[in-house]
Amino acid sequence: MRNVIIIGSGCAGNTAAIYAARANLKPLVVAGHEPGGQLSLTTLVENFPGFPEGIDGPLLVENIKKQAEHFGAEYMHGTVIEADLSKRPFRLNIDNQWQEARTLIIASGASARWLNLPNEQKLIGHGVSSCATCDGFFYRGKKIMVVGGGDSAMEEANFLTRFGQEVTLVHRRDAFRSSKIMLDRARSNPKISFLTNTVVDDIYDASKNIVTAVKLRNLKTDETWVRDIDGFFVAIGHIPNTAPFAGQIELDPDGYIISKGGARTSVTGVFHAGDVQDRTYRQAVTAAGAGCMAAIEVERFLEAEGH
Ligand code: NAP
Repeated sequence: MRNVIIIGSGCAGNTAAIYAARANLKPLVVAGHEPGGQLSLTTLVENFPGFPEGIDGPLLVENIKKQAEHFGAEYMHGTVIEADLSKRPFRLNIDNQWQEARTLIIASGASARWLNLPNEQKLIGHGVSSCATCDGFFYRGKKIMVVGGGDSAMEEANFLTRFGQEVTLVHRRDAFRSSKIMLDRARSNPKISFLTNTVVDDIYDASKNIVTAVKLRNLKTDETWVRDIDGFFVAIGHIPNTAPFAGQIELDPDGYIISKGGARTSVTGVFHAGDVQDRTYRQAVTAAGAGCMAAIEVERFLEAEGH
């Protein structure tokens, strides 16, 4: 029986692990299907306090993990596939191994959203990607397309210009959700061109198992056309990883955990941290802060119960 199991090993989960470990709670951290979370898929992080020159995302999150391990946090590979939050101790099925805990911190984050195009899933890893940092290297000198109008799309488009001969950014509106500074950076990059009011209807060529082109459609004129590309990057946001908790904990219509104040969820003894609850800020520093809050709440909760 664990005092606390932390689900997720991104910035939120790892920070919760530091605090829980330093409180002698001997936390178990379940790394999840994307160990390191979103930071492990990014490049330079310039806005995490304490790093005037910036720090690489994967290094930052690995450092936080090391810090947690230094104080006794235990990490295990695996993903929660089932949970029983109906009574305490809570029970988690982690890759068919059941674990019990007095409290939980859900810090399982949010995963990339896909366009759900006919050939998209078939071509993932063969020209379709949701991670420029992971796959940009493969498109040296190639034609790249990025879909999305938020900060992720701008960041990915800018990053991909390091590799590609050209990057086309496709967005379904002509107004952008991204911050002005990131949009301006993309707009002033000579390698990036914009296609607005435009959607992608299909990706070719699944029969060759490689991306060769896309079918585009202008939403204002309904004109469609085919454009040759080599790499297709989807940057249209994320879906919270809450499937094992659906029906047991209050979620909003998009699946994000509804906070009941502080780090509390609708289930007593279950706490939230990071992007799995936060659809507003979603920053490394806010996730780290949320992890700290959740661990402090766990500590007080267990103490009040005499553990
Ligand atoms: P986001 O802000 O939610 O933007 C998603 C974009 O994808 C929107 O432009 C949306 O279009 C478009 N989209 C969604 N579904 C679509 C679909 N089915 N077809 C076509 N387009 C679709 O997500 P994000 O860019 O991943 O950013 C998430 C958060 O992380 C934000 O708070 C952002 O500021 C932050 N972030 C920060 C940085 C940084 O500071 N370095 C980097 C990345 C992300 P509509 O606008 O039309 O809805």
